[in-house]
Amino acid sequence: MSIYTQDQIDKLVEGKLDWDTTLRMLTMPKDAERFQMYLDTLQRRLDWEDRIVLPLGPHLHIVQKAGSRQWVTKCECGHELGDWKDNWKLHAHIYVREDDAAMSEVYPTLMAPDTQWQVYREYYCPQCATMLDVEAPTPWYPVIHDFEPDIDAFYRDWMGLPVPERAGG
Ligand SMILES: [Zn+2]
Repeated sequence: MSIYTQDQIDKLVEGKLDWDTTLRMLTMPKDAERFQMYLDTLQRRLDWEDRIVLPLGPHLHIVQKAGSRQWVTKCECGHELGDWKDNWKLHAHIYVREDDAAMSEVYPTLMAPDTQWQVYREYYCPQCATMLDVEAPTPWYPVIHDFEPDIDAFYRDWMGLPVPERAGG
């Protein structure tokens, strides 16, 4: 039985579903086949050989470098943003909206958050300038490392798939 419509899969691939929903879709029982289809679909859109291990967003993936067991975080344009365990945001270009003028570019006046309490941090690929993530922390909050995915458990326990090989830890 197919749980998801083609429209949902299309949205997934286009990055129009948030990561929580994506993860929930991917971790439904017996969805290993769908996960592989999803990875295959993403992989076909790329013009490099590194194998996607886990998508982190519509344009950002943890990949296994071709011909090695090294895992890195990589933008779809091919730019690498460090080892997969690093906080990739520290390798990105960061634009901080921290005053009313900058906020007004994304928010109507009066609906914008008070920049004394909240700023926008936008993370861009240094190579292709694609926006990879946005966060809205308080101004003094350190750069957020979203999560370190437990990829081994994801493959082995949720998907029943072999864990892709990896050098180091
Ligand atoms: Zn890029």
